[in-house]
Amino acid sequence: VAQEAPIITVTQVKANVSMPEAAPRAFATGADGVGLLRTEHMMLAAGVHPVKFLEEDREDELVNILVENILKVVDVFYPKPVWYRTLDSPTDEFKTLDGGENEPDEPNPMLGWRGIRRELDQDGILRAEFKAIKKLHDQGYTNIGVMIPLAQHPDELRKAKKICEEVGLTPHKDIEFGMMVEIPAAAILIQDFIDVGLDFVSLGTNDLTQYTLAVDRNNEFVAKNYSEEHPAVMALVERTIRTCVENGVTCSICGQAGSVPHIVEKLVGMGITSVSANSDAILEVRKTVARAEQKLILDAARKQQ
Ligand code: PEP
Ligand code: MG
Repeated sequence: VAQEAPIITVTQVKANVSMPEAAPRAFATGADGVGLLRTEHMMLAAGVHPVKFLEEDREDELVNILVENILKVVDVFYPKPVWYRTLDSPTDEFKTLDGGENEPDEPNPMLGWRGIRRELDQDGILRAEFKAIKKLHDQGYTNIGVMIPLAQHPDELRKAKKICEEVGLTPHKDIEFGMMVEIPAAAILIQDFIDVGLDFVSLGTNDLTQYTLAVDRNNEFVAKNYSEEHPAVMALVERTIRTCVENGVTCSICGQAGSVPHIVEKLVGMGITSVSANSDAILEVRKTVARAEQKLILDAARKQQ
């Protein structure tokens, strides 16, 4: 069987990894790194709520679980970069865990206690995550970046960085430090976040869409009102990418919109640095990115004639 020539793109194409066991398959796609490593499944597989570990003075166990899981990904991908996203677990999804019975009943979990806001309230979890990354960094895994989910104010970024430093990891030096843009407030204030110091930004369009359009992404009754291509969502996306480009900050996307060909074409035109998609979509995304890049070059060349 004839082998296809590799597709070369300047825009990087990366993998989203939700289960560490899937890392080898993600790597086999030729992905340029992991643009989103989710933590939620690591915790669900452990079967115990992270807060329970902390309350029972079993922080070491929690750190070790994180180390073992993150290792499966950073080792397979080394030296390609892996962006680890700190825990983002809506309360309703963690109730089944041992210790999950203490999760509060929230009227609107999607607007509730999740992402960085919760991790700053219960900073023991965030500390354990940074400790795990420090251990891996000390072992020579210098390919780890940290990404903060659901930030809505630059102060959250400042506080998260401080905790990272307290654990002995220096942001921007030991690890790349970045954030997700998932709340309209973050897209609107992106310059203020950049001013706090960011190595990269990743557009979480799944949440950005739900919060911009006031459409619960898990509610079937309003599913028809959910669209990443709504002009307001695209305006926030464009604003974020252009501001990052102006400031020389790497800007990526890890939401599902990054797997939609005609959206990807627009993002490449706006100047996105990388697109991260599920493993099964990576080849198609790479082809789309290559086509979009070549179209840009061709259009520019024709203009000069
Ligand atoms: C997103 O919100 O676009 C995203 C990638 O994060 P998650 O789907 O895990 O909320
Ligand atoms: Mg999200």
